[in-house]
Amino acid sequence: MSKPSAPAKSNASGANASFDDKSKSKDSRYANIVAARAISDVVRTSLGPKGMDKMIITAKNEVIITNDGATILRNIQAFHPAAKMFVDLSAAQDIEAGDGTTSVVVLAGSLLGAAEKMLEKGMHPTIIAESFLKASAKAVEYLTEMSTPIKLQDRKTLERAATTSLNSKIVSQFSTLLAPIAVSAVTRLLTPTSTNVDLRDIRIVKKVGGTIEDTELVEGVVLNQNVVTSGGGPRRMEKAKIALIQFQLSAPKPDMDNTVVVNDYRQMDKVIKEERAYILEMCKKIKKWGCNVLLIQKSILRDAVNEISLHFLAKLKILVVKDIERDEINFLSKSLGCKPIADVDSFSEDKLGYADLVEETTKAEASIVKIMGVKNPGKTVSVLCMGGSHVVLEECERSLHDALCVVRCLVKKRALIAGGGAPEIHVSRLLSQYAHTLKGMEAYCFQAYADALEVIPSTLAENAGLNPIAIVTELRNRHALGEHNAGINVRKGLVSNILEEEVVQPLLVSTSAVELSTETVSLILKIDEILWSR
Ligand code: ADP
Ligand code: MG
Repeated sequence: MSKPSAPAKSNASGANASFDDKSKSKDSRYANIVAARAISDVVRTSLGPKGMDKMIITAKNEVIITNDGATILRNIQAFHPAAKMFVDLSAAQDIEAGDGTTSVVVLAGSLLGAAEKMLEKGMHPTIIAESFLKASAKAVEYLTEMSTPIKLQDRKTLERAATTSLNSKIVSQFSTLLAPIAVSAVTRLLTPTSTNVDLRDIRIVKKVGGTIEDTELVEGVVLNQNVVTSGGGPRRMEKAKIALIQFQLSAPKPDMDNTVVVNDYRQMDKVIKEERAYILEMCKKIKKWGCNVLLIQKSILRDAVNEISLHFLAKLKILVVKDIERDEINFLSKSLGCKPIADVDSFSEDKLGYADLVEETTKAEASIVKIMGVKNPGKTVSVLCMGGSHVVLEECERSLHDALCVVRCLVKKRALIAGGGAPEIHVSRLLSQYAHTLKGMEAYCFQAYADALEVIPSTLAENAGLNPIAIVTELRNRHALGEHNAGINVRKGLVSNILEEEVVQPLLVSTSAVELSTETVSLILKIDEILWSR
């Protein structure tokens, strides 16, 4: 296929006059491009089901092993401002779509590479940036045309999309278990009119123990904490009336550090008695409202509970869970239908939540507190994620998050496209054809944009140990013969109809990757100087 020829620097004239970059802005621009492309090279090898994983050592000496682009970039130290823009690009994709966080950066790196070549030929950065933006709008159009609409009732399709996203993760061998969990979790929150799902309503509780196969969706709420049994209190409570309290059941402390010296035994007795009476009164007030399960928020001021209060609470047959974090309060009150109580005197019936059963059980050597049979269920979902170590659990959570995001994408935009590099080749072909209808610089930019899209299939092939040039050429040929769904079959190592392999991904993931990467590249291209502010 003939490509629109490059405007040569020597014979450029008129509107197409070659752009004579000042050497200073040229330097800044190249520095930006080099820094940003370095970032994209970091994650390149992680793309696709056969991509490599990264081991990241954090400042706190914790080890993270991951394959997720957003996680890798969030944790590396990028100093150059343009490099930071690529880190932010991945984060933006994470917010918008949740998946495709590696693809977006790889694509942006390739676009920058294409732009760099055109800059060397003397093309003006603004023209490149503007043409790229137009080309991305066209690409989104083509992607939308090739997508297939879906129905949310079609569970199998949703599971297929979730499986594709899990396939490229470390936990891919568990995708038959995790994909249905992700689909059930999201669909449970759906109402007939919903066009989005708040993933904060899906809580993943991680417990070390067993294997990932023990991961389950729980019909109720799972707590991160365990029951406090040091006072001899109950571990199980039927017909639970749950209070979520934000005050402490211990003697108040003065604001300043001061010592009271008591040298008389009678005085000491009195102090202890006062404390006991004070705490007993609080516990009785709590019991008066019929509360039998107490969730206590962690306090930084003093002990939320102490030996004396635990003793009384056990006597009153109240189940106690302490150390509830501040950021769990919203989720718990929404799930349990209770309101946080800030003061012992502000207890009231409507602030308590109700559940059929609160119980601490043991599963694969981990203690798990489950709250089952809550009133008005369906507002939130809990997933109990189990695994052999923290490192595995964290990656399992991130992978589940990606799968949940994929299902959410389908709720937002109900259409799927094929994976495995098929859409990129298809769009690249159409854009290249479209470029022939354009004139001058724009035609050249469109062609360059079309070529840059091929980075996705070629990287997928490279990471799968295949010859990228041979694979991309074959893909191009098959698409030219009308096989729009020909993609890289990574498992078998050849080109085949990727829809038959059930490798599908949400349209939103691809369109948002194209849009966001082009925006960032245009931004970088238009910068001609880096100034440091004081
Ligand atoms: P990202 O963070 O961008 O989602 P991934 O590592 O998940 O990166 O890789 C996604 C890419 O891998 C997509 O282009 C997708 O089409 C492709 N892909 C996923 N599963 C398969 C598969 N089984 N066969 C071929 N390609 C696949
Ligand atoms: Mg992915």
